Amino acid sequence: MTTGFYPGSFNPLTLGHEHIIKVAASVFDKLVVGVGVNADKVYSFSVEERVEMVQEAVAINRLTNVEVIGYDGLLVQAAAKVGAKVIVRGLRTTSDFDYEFTLNDFNKTYDPDLETMFLMAPKEFLTISSTNVRTAVKAGLPVHQWVNPTVAQYLLRANKKD
Ligand code: ADP
Repeated sequence: MTTGFYPGSFNPLTLGHEHIIKVAASVFDKLVVGVGVNADKVYSFSVEERVEMVQEAVAINRLTNVEVIGYDGLLVQAAAKVGAKVIVRGLRTTSDFDYEFTLNDFNKTYDPDLETMFLMAPKEFLTISSTNVRTAVKAGLPVHQWVNPTVAQYLLRANKKD
């Protein structure tokens, strides 16, 4: 059985992330989506909320071979723990590539057998980022073109609390 591991912040989950999850779920027997907790990062949503957002999207899309977990620590360790030999990452622009290039090298230092599979964002999702989504919500702008309706509700609730 081939297992893929798709790690990310998903702060919040966007339609760009969902696209990558759907494609990766069709490639692997099992896909584990890892919602990261990095002690150096400040997240707008707790890990529980971010896991829930991904789980809800997975259920709506009926992706029965996708599991969602929260993880802290290094990517290589999390991938090993779930038995994945392949990491999945999405690419939008060359700046994503630059970042991924060094991340892959870092991972290979610790696990030379761990491969990364890159999936290109389709044209309509090229400019979607969690940062853009959060910025738009704070400014009171609509984000339905970038996130699913459930995530939009999470964003509105969080915005009211701020
Ligand atoms: P990280 O902090 O690990 O970069 P993100 O949640 O920002 O977490 O992104 C997780 C992964 O999803 C990364 O590989 C990123 O390039 C990819 N990604 C983010 N937004 C999109 C998008 N709109 N289309 C395709 N891939 C994306």
